[in-house]
Amino acid sequence: MKILAIDTSADETAVAVVEGRRIISNVIYSQIDIHKKWGGIYPTLAKQAHEERIDGVVEKALKRFMIYDLRFKNIERYMDGIDAIAVTQGPGLAIALEVGIRKAKELAIQYQKPLIAVNHLEGHLYSCFAQNRFGKPTYEIKFPYLGLIVSGGHTEIVLIKGHLQYQVLGETLDDAAGEALDKAAKLLGLSYPGGPVIEQLAQEIGQIDKYHFPRPMLQSRNLDFSFSGLKTSFYYYVRELPEKEKIKSIKYLVSSFQEAVFDVIVKKTESAIKQTGVTNIIIGGGVCANLYLRKRLRAMVKKNNGAIIFPPFKYLTGDNAAMIGIVAGYKAKANQFVKNSDHLDRVTRMSL
Ligand code: AMP
Ligand code: MG
Repeated sequence: MKILAIDTSADETAVAVVEGRRIISNVIYSQIDIHKKWGGIYPTLAKQAHEERIDGVVEKALKRFMIYDLRFKNIERYMDGIDAIAVTQGPGLAIALEVGIRKAKELAIQYQKPLIAVNHLEGHLYSCFAQNRFGKPTYEIKFPYLGLIVSGGHTEIVLIKGHLQYQVLGETLDDAAGEALDKAAKLLGLSYPGGPVIEQLAQEIGQIDKYHFPRPMLQSRNLDFSFSGLKTSFYYYVRELPEKEKIKSIKYLVSSFQEAVFDVIVKKTESAIKQTGVTNIIIGGGVCANLYLRKRLRAMVKKNNGAIIFPPFKYLTGDNAAMIGIVAGYKAKANQFVKNSDHLDRVTRMSL
């Protein structure tokens, strides 16, 4: 079954064509340049950019799919090869989600295709199972998994017992990991999004934890996260620093901040392994693009005799629609289609 999937949950207009786990085409139009000067996502600009781009991105994804499948060379018939339309229902920014949902409904009605609604967080987890168009990598999916989502909007640890079966074991009580990194960077006058900038600066000094900022929630046995205490302590420390000193220490500051955030992520994941006995980990979300975090997670999982799967392509760590299409394939198998598209609406806060 070939699925055209759409995601407009935040600042990426993304459309993909997916068959099972295979990604046939994957187009992402990032709005980062638009939001950069605001230091975060500016909702009305996001909506406008999605609206301006969505048709073009759908067309591009379909064209790339046609190049792959020559039977559908005629652009007039480009939807013939598509069996269903999938769209992110939430969580995300309301006015951004609405653009994708409207487009998905429009396509479903015009071409008489079934519609599948997907939770963006499921997408992040399933991004680990993605294969390229040749079906690589070939490993089989073997449940149970522990899923770790570390993105700009979410930080969660999830037990996944089978396809589409989730049990949230822990989540953030305030800021998400990516959000914490973005805010720390903003405080220091660094550009948006902060995660990759921090990674690069920390790399330049070889990642040194000079300041030992607090590791919130590390002592508690539960698997929830909280980054607001760390953020506050960082804020007061930076505020007291003379400007000259701040500039001189910037790499040590971000490096120490990153270390605190990652320490919490790695140790909570390890606690989840110990509590559940599940040692196979999947991970998704923009923060898992960080090479230092990957290294630390790999080492921890190895120590626990487990295995960790990262989303296979670099562009799959952040937001994309390919991951939405992969989930949709399993939902179609389970006959989970939208019954009445009139009733499909965005859900800005949506859990697994
Ligand atoms: P997402 O919400 O999945 O689109 O991911 C966006 C978040 O990932 C933002 O908060 C970014 O700062 C963060 N991020 C992206 N790349 C990196 C990186 N290399 N290291 C740390 N965080 C990152
Ligand atoms: Mg995301």
